[in-house]
Parts: sequence; C-alpha cells; structure tokens
Amino acid sequence: MKKIEAARMEPFVAAIFAAAGSEETEAAIIAAHLVEASLMGHDSHGLIRISKYVSWLRAGEVVANQHARVVTDRGALLVIDGNFGFGQVIGKEAMELAAERARLHGMAAMAIRNSGHLGRIGAWPELLAQRGYASIHFVNTSGYGILVAPHGGSDRRFSANPIAAGVPRAGGSPYILDIATSSTAEGKIQVARNKGKKLPAGMLLDGQGRPTDDPQAFYADPPGAILPFGAHKGSGLSFFCEVLAGSLSGGFASNPQSPTAKRLVNNMLSMVFDPAAFGSAEAFAEDVSRLAGWSKASPPANPGEAVLLPGEIERKTYAERLADGLPVDEETWSQIVASATSLGVAISKF
Ligand code: NAD
Repeated sequence: MKKIEAARMEPFVAAIFAAAGSEETEAAIIAAHLVEASLMGHDSHGLIRISKYVSWLRAGEVVANQHARVVTDRGALLVIDGNFGFGQVIGKEAMELAAERARLHGMAAMAIRNSGHLGRIGAWPELLAQRGYASIHFVNTSGYGILVAPHGGSDRRFSANPIAAGVPRAGGSPYILDIATSSTAEGKIQVARNKGKKLPAGMLLDGQGRPTDDPQAFYADPPGAILPFGAHKGSGLSFFCEVLAGSLSGGFASNPQSPTAKRLVNNMLSMVFDPAAFGSAEAFAEDVSRLAGWSKASPPANPGEAVLLPGEIERKTYAERLADGLPVDEETWSQIVASATSLGVAISKF
C-alpha cells in the first residue's frame, strides 16, 4: 500500500485526463473530484476510477468537453441533458444553475439525464450546502450499471442507485448523507477484489443466486448481484431512484433495452431548498444545530465510539488523509500508471 500526497496526486490525475482529451478546466475538475473522494475515504469513487474513466473515454462511452445543456426551463423546474459528458463537469454546472434557481424561487427541481458517471454523489449536496441550500438527490444508472437484485429476487435488475442529501451547518462543514441503496457500492467490490479481500456476509449473490462473500464471484460469468441494503426498504428506495432519476428525467429506469443500455449513464433528480424562503434561515440553522447536539448527546452504544452525524466520518478521514497521504493499493496504482503511460504522461514529472 502506497501513501501519496493529495497535492502531488491531483496535478498528475489532471495531466492524465488532459492527455486523454479533456480541456484543462475539465481535467482539473475531474482530478479534484476524484482526489477529494479518496480524501473523504470513498476510495470506490476516487483514484480507482481513473483507469476506468480513461477506458470509457476511449470507447466513446463518455465524451470529453461537454456541458450541461438546458432542455426544459420552467423557472423552478429544469431538465438538463449531460450529452454523455463527464459527470464531474455536468454535475457542477447543473448544481450552480440549480442554486441560482433556488435563490430566485425558494426551491428548484432539476432532472439531469445522460450524464457520464456523477462520481461521489455527496459532492452535489455539498456544493449546494456551501451556498446555503438544503437538498436531496436521487440517482440511477440506466443500462450498463444494472447490478442489484430487488428484494426477493436473485439477479441484477436495478443499479446501485445512490441517494444523497445535505444541509448547511452554521459555522461548520455541512451535514451530508451519501449512500448507495445497494448494501455496498460496486466500487467497494472492486476495491476488495484489488486487495484480495472478502466482503461481509449479506451483500452479494453469486451467478446462481446463492449468497457469497467472494468479490470474484460477482465478476464471474454468469455474474453475481449485489443485495439492496435493509431488505425490502432499500429495495423500495432503489425502485424510486429508478423512477425519480431515470423515468422522470427521460434518461430511463434500469432497462437493458434502453437506447443508453450499453454505456454508463447517470441520471439524477435534485430538489434544492432555500431555508430562508421557508421562514427564517437563522431559526432553521438553530433547529438543525439543536437536533445535531441532541443526537450526539446519546450515550455511545460502544464506549469510546461517539455518535456520528452524516458527513462527519468523511471530514475526519479527509483531515487524516490530507496530513498522511492517500492510501493507494498496488493493483490500483499499477492501473493508474498503465493509463498514464499509455497516454504519454511521465510519472517522473510529478
Ligand atoms: P457508505 O456506506 O460509506 O455510507 C456513507 C454515508 O454514511 C455518509 O453519509 C457517511 O457520513 C455516513 N456514515 C458512515 N459511517 C457512519 C457512522 N458510523 N455513523 C453515522 N453515519 C455514518 O457509502 P456507500 O453507500 O458505500 O456509497 C459510497 C459512495 O459511492 C458514495 O459517495 C456514493 O455517492 C457513491 N455511489 C455513486 C454511484 C453513482 O452511480 N455515481 C452509485 C453508487 C454509489
């Protein structure tokens, strides 16, 4: 396991995407997002994605230098087409627009279709919370990302379908919930496979629909499936991610027959609220702060392990990794170096 300083990694990642065809700004946005995801402890959506993104770009599954295109504009309601561009850019541009509309109308509903991988979804409520807005986001992946068995089923029917929500915190980092509705994100199975580790029981089915803890069984032929979290509850939320993000945006719910079934496409429904428009922004912040204090005052179930609120573990990991470096396993590192070398990016420069 290597430890790499984030400040050295980010320009290296940007150079890889610039060499792969992204304009400088786009390459920098992708690099910042992936490094930040790793800093926050979401390795599954961080550096491990570099080689995959490069291969998607080469295969035409994601298109460089695209922008969020408004296809419907009804003021507080917007539909955006991502033109299969990098989700890091499409998501950022779209969220800036949603923030502007929430400021004007008190709230905004935005559906994004045909975006490339939107990465760590928590990045989007975070951007909005930094501007003072509360938000909730439902995401699906039509076609290529079908990985999850519905509760009671035995093969892949849904995508990992994350839900994220955020709220600003007076004088501190926002509270951010960021969860896949699958019992694990697919990237974490990749991480376990790269590290040669097993997964906890209750997460995976093998290609015959039998429970397994072996990440290899998930990638075998026939492939395995991920179970939803919380049995019927996670499965139900996943169904509504498909409907709200996929069907409503026009980007399609999971469906192997959809026109985008052969590429990785994220769709997202975002609802953004300006607390000030509901009454008093100060009273809202005070009430959230009271709730946070009340929750954290619960005596720890395990002595020494405090109650954590959404987003707190990521802040802690961020601070630790910023100081100690980003852990990168050998397999992931060799994939990154192979991508860089194939694009003529000399690692020695970084
Ligand atoms: P996870 O299981 O690590 O859960 C993360 C959430 O739980 C965070 O909000 C975190 O603050 C909170 N949390 C963690 N430990 C906690 C504790 N002890 N107490 C209280 N709260 C705690 O995340 P996941 O479901 O594995 O998802 C990982 C990442 O994968 C996310 O960033 C998600 O957006 C991303 N993802 C993206 C896609 C996509 O299509 N783009 C698909 C699936 C997942």
